[in-house]
Amino acid sequence: MRRLELDGGQRLLLCARDVSEARRYEDRLRSLAYEDQLTHLPNRAAALAWMEAHLQRPGQGPQLLFWLDLDGFGRINLSFGRQAGDALLLTVAEGLRQFSAPQDLVARLGSDEFLLVRSLTGALHGWLALQREAEATLSDLRAHLARLIPEAQVVGPWPLGFSAGYSVAPLHGHHADALLEAAATALSRARLVAPGTALAYRPTYTTSLRRQVALELSLRQALENGHLRLVYQPQCSAQGDLLGAEALLRWEDPEHGTVSPARFIALAERSNLIHPLGEWVLQQACRQLRLWLDADLQPPRLAVNLSPRQFEVTVPPLVEQVRVLLERYQLPRDLLELEITESCILPTQGVSAQVKALADLGVLLALDDFGTGYSSLSALNRLPLHKLKIDRSFIQHLVGSDSAPTIVRTALAMGRGLGLEVLAEGLETPGQLEVLQSLGCDAYQGYWFSPPLEVDAFTALMASSRSLRQG
Ligand code: C2E
Ligand code: MG
Ligand code: MG
Repeated sequence: MRRLELDGGQRLLLCARDVSEARRYEDRLRSLAYEDQLTHLPNRAAALAWMEAHLQRPGQGPQLLFWLDLDGFGRINLSFGRQAGDALLLTVAEGLRQFSAPQDLVARLGSDEFLLVRSLTGALHGWLALQREAEATLSDLRAHLARLIPEAQVVGPWPLGFSAGYSVAPLHGHHADALLEAAATALSRARLVAPGTALAYRPTYTTSLRRQVALELSLRQALENGHLRLVYQPQCSAQGDLLGAEALLRWEDPEHGTVSPARFIALAERSNLIHPLGEWVLQQACRQLRLWLDADLQPPRLAVNLSPRQFEVTVPPLVEQVRVLLERYQLPRDLLELEITESCILPTQGVSAQVKALADLGVLLALDDFGTGYSSLSALNRLPLHKLKIDRSFIQHLVGSDSAPTIVRTALAMGRGLGLEVLAEGLETPGQLEVLQSLGCDAYQGYWFSPPLEVDAFTALMASSRSLRQG
């Protein structure tokens, strides 16, 4: 506090000035504490206070709490820059303001997450009626935003979509934080389904979300405590000669038992754990190649799977990770093959430059699970790929299906036309081998030749005949 040594009116004037300055500070502090600084919408703390007050109001009817999450916002920021991202958030905030009724609340909860609380005035009875009302509200909101975004021209022709989770007061709680938590849980569930999904809260979601969080924590610990390992599945010629191997991740957990990679990779991809996990796999594979080289085993080319998320901005970036590992372990460049999936090569993902930089390092690139996603011929042509891996689903139905052989034949013709090697995944029977051989397939991977092998078994295979010829 400043001491004022003036007298009479002068002192009063200065005091008044001091107070108004303090007020301004106070207002500013309040705005910082309760208002989102970009959109000037109430923030989470303000939303909680508003809801708490309204929930206790006598005669308050049911309320729907929608937690909205813009789909693909991270990509907007990455591809169009932060300014475009901010402009989009402002447009959405404005759209929500326009959409809301005077007794509703709109707030910004986090980066691209918004809250809409709709107070229902009419007497709505029963869960089905509430759900119908919620769905109608969401569909009106989607239509409203869809009209607004193209007009605003903030990021070009970007279809604005959002995912949502919602809860109902007082059905799912009598307090603001419980209701918000329920809406957040429903949203996490909706995100697992597909972009654009909206789900109402269900108590079972809480249990399954807790289970998922526990599993994620265990995976983190497994990575730290060395409970993960790589196995190696041979790839060979039709005659069974060893041509290469694919490194596949395995997790044996003391508590959860064996968890399949299909499950835990997806889990890691939903959290940021995929980054340290992906880096660990790369490091482990390179280290293993060095050990085999030092033992004079002449290892064949080793393939490592990359998740599309590994192409995101990371420290160090993927290309740098690979470059450092090749140096550290002094590896012949073409001994390492990286498997990418079709979703990586969509032009919108902006990863082609990284894929090219990886190829410039001298490592080889394979397109995994070919046929299950979307590969335009031009994307295949544009990228420096050297191999197509035809997905197991087509090989599985090769014998006895009319369409699968056509797809496989087309993939082989396309691969050959582009000068690529073509490998058939998931080969299980001699019948499949025969058909593929007649179609001119170059390489095979599957249980018919060998399942994925533990490191010792794969080392023994390299040290012996290097042949997987079937009797
Ligand atoms: P993928 O890359 O397509 O790997 C081939 C999968 O097919 C492996 O499953 C392999 O065990 C399985 N497989 C091989 N031959 C046969 C066969 O003849 N019949 C049948 N039914 N299956 C066969 P796995 O090891 O369970 O891995 C599943 C997926 O998990 C992989 O599919 C890959 O997408 C992912 N994955 C595994 N390890 C990693 C990793 O280190 N990083 C990343 N990002 N993904 C990984
Ligand atoms: Mg693979
Ligand atoms: Mg595959």
